Amino acid sequence: MSTIFTQIVEGEIPARIVYEDETTVAFLDANPLAPGHTLVIPKDEYERLNDVPADVATDLYDTIHRLVPVVEDVVDADATTVAFNNGEEAGQEVPHVHCHIVPRFEGDGGGPIHAIAGEVPDLDDDELDAIAADIESEA
Ligand code: AMP
Repeated sequence: MSTIFTQIVEGEIPARIVYEDETTVAFLDANPLAPGHTLVIPKDEYERLNDVPADVATDLYDTIHRLVPVVEDVVDADATTVAFNNGEEAGQEVPHVHCHIVPRFEGDGGGPIHAIAGEVPDLDDDELDAIAADIESEA
């Protein structure tokens, strides 16, 4: 069973497509958090960012990079929040990787990315050093 976003790519269900190239497509979110709320996806179905091959990731970022200033201009936004819900526990509902471009306006009442945190951990220097070293060694 293909995802709802693959159905958009295949033209099986309608969407307000705003950009398309060989590997990516962007369309307006059906339940916008702000005017101009846009989703950018790879055409091929990958559930999470972790699954996206490097060449597709490059194309995906190129499309995000192209669209962020355009979306801001079109809706006269002051800023944008650009984010992925990467995995179900992070709030991802559609299992087809997608980047949210959410226009932001002065006084819009929204929060920063930091607002996603529930319980914030109290990590000491040793724990931070160990985590940093582990990430660095795998990157
Ligand atoms: P997420 O929670 O990150 O998986 O976000 C999924 C997003 O997809 C939500 O913001 C939905 O409003 C949006 N969405 C779901 N179905 C459609 C659709 N058919 N066309 C456009 N956006 C959709």
